[in-house]
Amino acid sequence: MELQGKVAIVTGGSRGIGKAIAKGLASAGAQVVIGYASSHDEARAVAEAIGGVAVQANVATAEGCDALVNAASEWGGADVLVNNAGVTADGLALRMKDEQWDKVMNVNAGGTFRMCRAALPAMVKKRGGSIINITSVSGVRGNPGQVNYSASKAAVIALTQSLSREMARRNIRVNAVAPGFIQTDMTDELTDDQRTELLARIPLRRMGQPEEIAHMVRFLSGPHSEYITGQTFIVDGGLTV
Ligand code: NAP
Repeated sequence: MELQGKVAIVTGGSRGIGKAIAKGLASAGAQVVIGYASSHDEARAVAEAIGGVAVQANVATAEGCDALVNAASEWGGADVLVNNAGVTADGLALRMKDEQWDKVMNVNAGGTFRMCRAALPAMVKKRGGSIINITSVSGVRGNPGQVNYSASKAAVIALTQSLSREMARRNIRVNAVAPGFIQTDMTDELTDDQRTELLARIPLRRMGQPEEIAHMVRFLSGPHSEYITGQTFIVDGGLTV
């Protein structure tokens, strides 16, 4: 129970990877505040299962981010922030609309920035903290049909590096996790052909499970990673090797 007495915020904790992360941090002893966009029932069920609290909080707005930070302050403020909320709006660049670009950049990159800005004052006050940003292999290598998504996730990696250098002297660590293909609602949209083609490219020959990302996040949240900051950890079954 290495996170006993710690408080964590997980954005996008109602489903998929964020839900597994919230459960993982709670089983390490943390009090968890879960953010979500619109899945009230799912978010409430996760919060109930882990004795946490669910807050409707759109990370595309400063108000949404403040709502999560305020909820965490009821327990003394966040020690851990996991920026997991993310969206896709895929399409070839030739036909991509401004709205597709703006939405994905604003939630994935903008949301990560706004949440960090909102959560940092409490961490500075506590003289320590750990921020984990969920990026993607698309942000490391690029992916056709995802110029908006991969640009937003590459921005998250660069933000992680810069912020880690700004905050290191305050004992606040900032790292990123880059999942490959993980079984969630986001990847349920793949066609059978896309799935077969994809599995052939993954050396471990399977998609990852949300819990396999949660294990890495739990490690980066706690005392076993105290000398690690500014890094991006790829968890992808060998896809990018
Ligand atoms: P998912 O199943 O689609 O869940 C997305 C989560 O983000 C939901 O909890 C959703 O809330 C929340 N969310 C969406 N827009 C939001 C907003 N504007 N404000 C606040 N919350 C918002 O996605 P996932 O597959 O678990 O992905 C989680 C993260 O991992 C994302 O950042 C994604 O880019 C990244 N990732 C996923 C994969 C993969 O293979 N699945 C691979 C690489 C990276 P609601 O439930 O209320 O809609």
